[in-house]
Amino acid sequence: MEQLRLNGKTALVTGASRGIGRAIALALAGEGADVAVNCTASMEAAEIVVQEIKNLGRDSFAIKADVADKPAVETMVRATVSSFGKIDILVNNAGMATVAPSEDLGESVWRRGIDVMLTGTFFCSQAAGKEMLRQHGGKIINIASINGIVAFPERASYCSAKAGVMALTKVLASEWARYGVNVNAIAPGYVDTELVRNLASQGTLDVSELVNRTPSKKLTQSADIGKVAIFLASEDADNINGQTLVIDGGWTAYGYLESWLNK
Ligand code: NAD
Repeated sequence: MEQLRLNGKTALVTGASRGIGRAIALALAGEGADVAVNCTASMEAAEIVVQEIKNLGRDSFAIKADVADKPAVETMVRATVSSFGKIDILVNNAGMATVAPSEDLGESVWRRGIDVMLTGTFFCSQAAGKEMLRQHGGKIINIASINGIVAFPERASYCSAKAGVMALTKVLASEWARYGVNVNAIAPGYVDTELVRNLASQGTLDVSELVNRTPSKKLTQSADIGKVAIFLASEDADNINGQTLVIDGGWTAYGYLESWLNK
């Protein structure tokens, strides 16, 4: 019988009640990991993911915490360690879209994007990292974005936060590699999730335009990100540290006219 790649491992995934976070939580559980499901908004949705994980034969629980709230993050990491006995994998996935012309972007919107996606990633990594250093091993996977690499207009807070996440990934990897802790990031292109569907229904995004601009001619799926998270969390990636893997169907590689892709 084929060995599961994350057998006996324990994980905490932030923002895991839906979208990419849910897909990653299920992917890790499918490879044998017990998974704590963090959420801020709906415990109900998180409990459904917990049940899905339990149906895969793994242990799971839901925990509410705003990743931008340091004491709440510390409590969440303590709860994970006390439930599972250790924390092997942290996935910093929680995030949100902030779209506004830079000249009008409000201070609170700017700050919230940075607080949740950059500071939240730091708080969670710091709290889980202390445990991982003690354990002498662990994997941290940060969900960045192609927006940390290439600019999309009207996303000043979002792009800055994601670029910060990629820089933070390198710093933490440099500091913690000697303790057997790997810190890497995944930078997805547009992924077919509620976040994208909401932007499309508000008229902020046109999905067919996105597909036309993508060399692979399709949106990335959450499951694609789950597969890469399994790899980065596994022993196969033990010597990969401080890297950002771009999963975007070729979006950032391509720099030529859209019309060429569609001829
Ligand atoms: P989503 O809105 O479907 O899910 C985001 C999750 O994060 C939600 O469950 C939300 O409740 C949670 N969250 C938000 N603020 C939080 C906080 N302060 N504390 C804890 N949880 C919080 O979005 P998604 O598309 O699944 O995106 C997940 C991650 O992937 C985000 O970091 C996003 O920036 C990134 N990403 C998404 C795309 C995309 O196209 N969907 C592309 C690149 C990167």
